[in-house]
Amino acid sequence: MSQPRAAPCEICGDTGWQPVGGLTDRVVRCVCWLEKQRAWADGVPQEFQAATLANYRPLAGNREALRVAGTFAEGSRDLVLIGPVGSGKTRLACSVLNALYAATKQGYFVRVPWMLHQLQPAPDPDGAAAVRARERRLTDEPIVCFDDLGAERDRATDYTRRTLLMLYERRHDQGLRTIWTSNKGIDDLSAMQDDDRLASRLAGWSDVVELTCADQRVSGH
Ligand SMILES: [Zn+2]
Repeated sequence: MSQPRAAPCEICGDTGWQPVGGLTDRVVRCVCWLEKQRAWADGVPQEFQAATLANYRPLAGNREALRVAGTFAEGSRDLVLIGPVGSGKTRLACSVLNALYAATKQGYFVRVPWMLHQLQPAPDPDGAAAVRARERRLTDEPIVCFDDLGAERDRATDYTRRTLLMLYERRHDQGLRTIWTSNKGIDDLSAMQDDDRLASRLAGWSDVVELTCADQRVSGH
């Protein structure tokens, strides 16, 4: 069976070049070409767009995390990377995402505090529809990294608790893969949430690994 062919790009007809302002002697790269060249998963912050498992700097404090992260693509369990600020956990998560993106063109990165802000119930119909669309993306994207779990507040609100648990259970029920990063351990997360449901799902469905490196950003890495 042959793969169904995607329709040619409406802008450039798949040449990859787009005339500027109707002039034929000046062209720029078409957005479709730029999209094909992109080497990072959607949402990955600029500072980690070039991050790969190959250029990740191995240190004593991240060796196990790097090993486990390297097996994520062929495994079936989720991944929780725990470590202090600057330990390289977000870079490592983005390295895994970028590798998956290169192979499958799938992957989405989102920071938990921003995501929770964006999912707040909206009073008007358009706002509510936008919230539903964001929510659907978070539950249905094949691979999502939720970065900085536990940074949202000192103590989770009922809304935070419910939203995170619902998203994670929905993803798991559909067999979709999730990567989390946090600067809190599983026990701390459970104390902070004042509820151990999310923490126990994380422990049950994920490989949980700690990074114990010192702040790499301070030392220029
Ligand atoms: Zn094009």
